[in-house]
Parts: sequence; structure tokens; C-alpha cells
Amino acid sequence: MEKKVEKYDVVIIGGGAAGMTAGIYCGRARLKTLIIEKSLVGGLATYTNEIENYPGFPEGSTGIELMNLFQKQAKKFNVDFKLTDVRSVDFTADVKIVETFRVRYEAKAVIVASGGKPRLTNAQGEAEFLFDKGISFCATCDAAANSGKDILVIGSGDAAIEEGMFLTKFARKVYVSVMHDTGKMDCNEIAKAEALHNPKMEFIWNTVVERFEGNERLETVVLKNLKTTEMVPVKVDSCFIFIGYLPNTEIFKDILPMTRGGYLLTNEKMETSIQGVFAAGDVRDKFLKQVATAVGDGAIAGYAVEKYIAESEMFETQILNHGYPSLVYVYNAIDPQSRDHLSLLDRYGTENPEIKVCKVDVYKSDGLAKRLGVTKYPMLVFVNHNRIQGETEIIDEKSLRTIVS
Ligand SMILES: Cc1cc2nc3c(=O)[nH]c(=O)nc-3n(C[C@H](O)[C@H](O)[C@H](O)COP(=O)(O)OP(=O)(O)OC[C@H]3O[C@@H](n4cnc5c(N)ncnc54)[C@H](O)[C@@H]3O)c2cc1C
Repeated sequence: MEKKVEKYDVVIIGGGAAGMTAGIYCGRARLKTLIIEKSLVGGLATYTNEIENYPGFPEGSTGIELMNLFQKQAKKFNVDFKLTDVRSVDFTADVKIVETFRVRYEAKAVIVASGGKPRLTNAQGEAEFLFDKGISFCATCDAAANSGKDILVIGSGDAAIEEGMFLTKFARKVYVSVMHDTGKMDCNEIAKAEALHNPKMEFIWNTVVERFEGNERLETVVLKNLKTTEMVPVKVDSCFIFIGYLPNTEIFKDILPMTRGGYLLTNEKMETSIQGVFAAGDVRDKFLKQVATAVGDGAIAGYAVEKYIAESEMFETQILNHGYPSLVYVYNAIDPQSRDHLSLLDRYGTENPEIKVCKVDVYKSDGLAKRLGVTKYPMLVFVNHNRIQGETEIIDEKSLRTIVS
């Protein structure tokens, strides 16, 4: 099937908090921006019933409400949304390719904001009971269906305990399987204190899941006591697994650099090692994965993309000069000596109109210097036929004449 081709300035893969924030920045910078989301716009944040730590919402907010506001703001800046999954990418050329089942998107830049997915226990029987058969990863989605029922939560991190407490508003009983010794949990101290005092919560310490059992639906989770190796069967209506997340980076394997765990590596500008490809949010290797940090990443990535596209245009029109000769002066504006040469360059430009004189101030951004491969400043570079023909650190009348000859 011949795929339809659509062109954008920026394609953002993933419509969670990071992707939508990047979209707001790109859209507001008047870049033609597309967000591709494969399931639910809002991403992981929509899984949580209560977000209390996102600034600006002193009363807290549900994840869905907060993410709806993000989407509304992105749409205000004309960001397009497409609900489909990205199947493959090709980042080898200047024009970046992002492919879905039907469409081949071409973009000047791509932001990967594909987040993560819940980690599984990999215990026996797990695959049989996923989602609507009794194993869930989303308290917000499945709490009401568990009214008056018995639930088992796996894990003791912030998500496990906070979502477990939310579930106590619906369930008859919430058991919590914790792999640590009695009283030791991975969540914050406030959540821990509240959970330990919650009469509907019962902790089963030193345990991990051995297997999931049932017929059509999950009926029993057999836990194993790590100290005694005793098997502890727990009769449940549902089990909620909150034991961490895995990054959604399968399609970037061998394309983008990542950690052994699959998290993408970026610098502080959210740049990956491929020019024009950025990453933001939970998909990155970073210290804290939260909505607030996803928003910070998205803002940086959106801003960096805007600069990257502006620089690409400048590189093409000013420096490569469409294949015609150009003399590029790379300097740092805070260095007085470098500034002294500017008038010499201006004079040369006036006297030699056939050669474009172009000044690159690395104090503002070193992006263009990097593209030229220049790391020392000041430097004079002569470009012709789209290639560097010569460069010199000596900047005077004679070197100007020599380098272009
Ligand atoms: C239960 C729970 C409770 C939480 N509580 C809080 C909290 O109280 N406060 C807080 O700050 N944070 C909380 N978090 C964390 C927060 O939700 C995340 O850090 C944040 O949502 C990450 O945003 P993101 O945009 O980086 O990734 P995500 O939200 O994961 O978004 C990535 C999106 O990319 C999409 N995607 C992936 N691959 C593709 C593809 N190939 N094609 C198209 N789309 C793709 C996914 O479908 C997803 O929607 C919680 C998380 C969970 C699970």
C-alpha cells in the first residue's frame, strides 16, 4: 500500500504531559506541529485519580482533568493530534521520517515523548488475567468496578500506596504485598503513615507473587514469603500491580542511544545524539519521573526544537548559501578581541558582494558552530559548493584574501 505523505515542522511521538507541553511550546512558536498518540491523550497521568503535587492546583486535580487542560492549551496553539501508533522511524537524513500504519510523516525535527508502561511481575498465569480479567494497572479506571470487593495491591512505592489508599474508598479490603521487612516501604513517609493507619489496608510483608490462579477470571494470587518460602494464597476479586515502569522505546532500538534499561539518553537541551531528534519525559534516563518534570522536559524540548529549526534554516541559507561562496566568522560576543574583527568583516562584505559574509555568535548558541565542526573561536571559515574549503584562526586583511583564493 502506497502511504500518504504529510509534512510537519515537528512531529511529537506521545501525547502525555511531556509531549503536550512540547506541543504547546512548538505551536506557540508557530511551528506546524503534530502529536501522535497511540492510546489515551494525557498518557500515564490519566491513570491516577489524584495529583496533589503539580504546582498551581492547591486543591489537587484528577489526572484526566489536568491532562484535558494540557490538550486544550495545545489545541489553542493549533497543534494537530492523531490517534494512532508510530510503527517505525528513520532518522538518518535531515528530513526525519515517522511512520504509522497509513501515513509517512516527514518532519524537520522529532520529539520522542513516548513515556513508559507498567512493569509486569512475570509470575505464572499473569498473561491470562491481564486487564479485564482481574489484573489492573489503573486504580482510577477500575476502582468503581471493585466496590465492596477484595483487592490485592503489589508494590510499596508512591504509586502502589497512594493508589491503594484510593482503592480503599471502594473496596471491602485492600491487601498489599510488600517485598520488604515489616514496616519498610518504598513510598514517601506521609503516604506510609497514612496507609499504616488505614483500617481497610492489610500488609503482607516479605512477599512476592508466585502465581496467578483462576478460571475465566482471576480468583487467587499465590504469594511467596521470601524469608520462609511459605506459599500464601490470597483470595481476591482483582489485583493491581504497581511495581514500576518500562520505557516505550522498542522502536528506537539501535537508532537512538539508550541505557541498558531502555531509557533514552539526552543532554540538558533534551537533544539525543542525532541532530534534530529530541526526547522528553519519562522515556528519558532521569532522576525523577513526575508530571512536573515531564512538563519541564517538554518545555525545554519544544524550545530547543524551535532554535534547531531556525538554525537549520540559517545554516542552509546563510552558511551553505545554496552552494555559493560564504565567509563565516565564528566568534564569541563577550570576547572584546573577537568583537574588534567585526568591522573588518563588514568592510570585506561590502567590497566583495559576490561572497556572503556571515557572523555566528557562539555566545547566543553554539549550534551553528557545531554543525560547521568549529570548536575554537574566533575562527574564519570559507564555505563553497556546500563544503568547507578552508579555515583560519588568524583574522586580518591578508588571511581574508588567502582563505577565499
Ligand atoms: C498510578 C500513577 C500515579 C502517578 N501519580 C503521580 C502524581 O501524583 N504526581 C506526578 O507528578 N506524577 C505522577 N505519576 C507519574 C506521571 O504520571 C508521569 O511521570 C507522567 O505522566 C509522564 O509523562 P510523559 O508524557 O513523559 O509520559 P506518558 O504519560 O507515559 O505519555 C507517553 C505517551 O506516549 C504514548 N506512546 C508510546 N509509544 C507510542 C507510539 N509508538 N506511538 C504513539 N504514541 C505512543 C503512550 O500511549 C503515552 O500516552 C503517576 C503515574 C502513575 C502510573
